[in-house]
Amino acid sequence: MSCLFCKIIAGQIPSYKVYEDESTLAFLDINPVNPGHTLVVPKKHFTNIEEADEPTVCQIIKIVKKIGLSFKKNLATPGYNLAVNNDPAAGQIVPHLHFHVMPRLLNDGLRPWPQKKYQANQAEEVLNKIKIK
Ligand code: AMP
Ligand code: ZN
Repeated sequence: MSCLFCKIIAGQIPSYKVYEDESTLAFLDINPVNPGHTLVVPKKHFTNIEEADEPTVCQIIKIVKKIGLSFKKNLATPGYNLAVNNDPAAGQIVPHLHFHVMPRLLNDGLRPWPQKKYQANQAEEVLNKIKIK
């Protein structure tokens, strides 16, 4: 087994467990954006969100929501970011599907990603390609 998160799930590498059930594990990210930053992973190895079956994705989202509620209730977190770095081009380093749940503080200095403007016709072109029919 070479996958880091599979090793964490198997207990071969220690982690700070935030939540665990039959199919899902949530543990503290070792390098948090803010304290409490949690990773939610399916226990079954899937590389990315397309590979994972729908019940797995739905269960992860349920746990993400519980963790967000816990941040708000127990850390008085005013908000949080959810992120999936889906595939290496999107910044995924560990190739085991994981949702980042990141507590945010007012004025914590973290900046959102930069945004661009659409060029002429670019919105229509991309829309025609990606629209789900
Ligand atoms: P990503 O870029 O989405 O693949 O993020 C991988 C995340 O895993 C990073 O935020 C790392 O800080 C985190 N990470 C790496 N090793 C560990 C570990 N042993 N325990 C907890 N989190 C880890
Ligand atoms: Zn894995």
